[in-house]
Amino acid sequence: MGHSIVEDDLKKQLVAMLPVESNVTKITYEGPFLVVYSKNPKVLMEDGEIVKNLARMLRKRILIKSDHDIRMPKDEAEKIIREIVPTDAEITAIAFDDDMGDIVIEAKKPGIVIGKNGSTLRELVKAVFWRPTVVRTPPLTSSLIQNIRRILQQHSATRQAALLNIGQRIHRRLISQTGGWLRLTALGGFREVGRTCLLLETHESKVMIDCGVNVGSSSPTHMFPRLDLPEFELQELDAVIITHAHLDHSGFAPFLYKYGYRGPLYCTEPTRNLMTLLQIDYLEVANREGKLSPYSFRNIQEELIHTIPLKYGEVTDIDPDMRLTYHNAGHILGSAIVHLHLGEGVYNIAFAHDFKYAKSRLLDPATSRFPRIETLIMESTYGGPRDIVASRKESERQIVKIINETINRRGKVLIPVLSVGRAQELMIVLDELTRRKLIPEIPIYLDGMIGEATAIHTCHPEYLSANLRERIFHAHENPFLSEWFTQVENQNTRDEIAESGSCVIMATSGMLAGGPSVEHFRLLAPNEKNSIIFVSYQADRTLGRRIQNGAKEIQMVGPTKKTQLVRVNMDIHTSDGFSGHSDRRQLLNYLRRISPKPEKVVLIHGEESKMLALANTIRRSLRAETLTPQNLETIRMR
Ligand code: ZN
Repeated sequence: MGHSIVEDDLKKQLVAMLPVESNVTKITYEGPFLVVYSKNPKVLMEDGEIVKNLARMLRKRILIKSDHDIRMPKDEAEKIIREIVPTDAEITAIAFDDDMGDIVIEAKKPGIVIGKNGSTLRELVKAVFWRPTVVRTPPLTSSLIQNIRRILQQHSATRQAALLNIGQRIHRRLISQTGGWLRLTALGGFREVGRTCLLLETHESKVMIDCGVNVGSSSPTHMFPRLDLPEFELQELDAVIITHAHLDHSGFAPFLYKYGYRGPLYCTEPTRNLMTLLQIDYLEVANREGKLSPYSFRNIQEELIHTIPLKYGEVTDIDPDMRLTYHNAGHILGSAIVHLHLGEGVYNIAFAHDFKYAKSRLLDPATSRFPRIETLIMESTYGGPRDIVASRKESERQIVKIINETINRRGKVLIPVLSVGRAQELMIVLDELTRRKLIPEIPIYLDGMIGEATAIHTCHPEYLSANLRERIFHAHENPFLSEWFTQVENQNTRDEIAESGSCVIMATSGMLAGGPSVEHFRLLAPNEKNSIIFVSYQADRTLGRRIQNGAKEIQMVGPTKKTQLVRVNMDIHTSDGFSGHSDRRQLLNYLRRISPKPEKVVLIHGEESKMLALANTIRRSLRAETLTPQNLETIRMR
């Protein structure tokens, strides 16, 4: 071909450092990874130090793969794998990726496939010459994850080509070696909640952090991030970095692919899966309700092909002058605080968009220790002076009281929830309350994408709290599988539930902005025996907020498309204690304990009055420079 995939001098350097007998046939990029294909990978695998030293010297992440010609034929390889791995590992599936040379082994006991210190896995590689990844067979099957795997498999060649392009771009030469400037532009989610989006630019590169939609809004000027800035050029974007799956952080990302962006999207693996689920649901709800949808299913698929999942703590080059590391944010499964290291340690920024600085049942608290940090971008959702939420214990007592009172008068309890996050937290709580007989054994219905989202949770147990992991793996007590939960399938079931006895209904969406919760509300609202409990943030102008504020009559459209006036006679309650956000106290605690201390704090993700109030307190009591930019403003950091 004449031209080399990896720059010639880097290639020479690499080959010179590898033993001759490793017989390297190709050196290429797969996104941020430098991949070395070898006809004798045993040499490199037996002496792990060679590769480690190489990675250290080149400051790149390196993967060793076997040359295509020496990989064992698939059926033979599958046979050998089943022979080598002890049967009590209970392998449930083995899938091959021809283009990438990868195999995914799904087993009920992945630890046994891996073996002590990875011994079984190493033995496997040397026997079959494929690169194995071991995943746990989830107790609930997620059809979405199966579909994602199928799509990635089908488009493996396209993905490989895309990853090569991405890799070449990441490892391009710096334009100038001297440190330049650094600017952050607010594209959405400033002095408001929804459509979070930021653009970070240096003299070398441009990255976007989060790309959300405001699902509560119906006005086109407030729904989407402001990508209409003259300095925003889609083709110049090096990377899109997503903090977590909620639509107000990820919902607009497929739009970038619709308009020709073909660069990488970084996120954790649970975020990839949950984000895809929520984006698909967003399109389905929009189609069903005749609303504007800014992109199509095809664009979601394109996004998926370009998504590069990263684990917490992995330091990854994303362009010539930025390194990205994800840290636990404690907000929802796979949620992350994004840490960016710019230049050679010149500047460090952490983005704590949505985070919980307290333990929840589902997750461990957000990380507060970073290697370095100059600026912290922090949410302010509950930053107002009155936003001290009840403790988890008090909130649980409150829920017990509401549920029991409602059941005593033969009513039903509706809890509108986000399908990802609060739904699972509440499932763990309701399961425990039932087990401890604090509430009677009544049916708990789940409506919307909750079932699928829960299945995805069971696929990534390593991201759950230490406590919950302990219960699931050692006490064999998985609250998500409890018998009291029933998934609602269709409208008939909703009508039947409305006619039947006492129950709890958890339904999406959390702000009554479309989805089945609206339908349950329409059916249950007129009866004063029923109760509704709001457990998540209700954005301005949403139906949820109006009801929370005491609206007594609501114009609604029923399933037959007829408009009707619904009287709200049911009991209205709010319980913020289950929130995945840090409340005012936790936000301030975080700033006190974060290490090292940032010089500058920039507030995001909060209503204007709360943001300004929190900024005042931070300036006064913590003496930190605190900024509250508006959308479309740019801050210069260096
Ligand atoms: Zn969120």
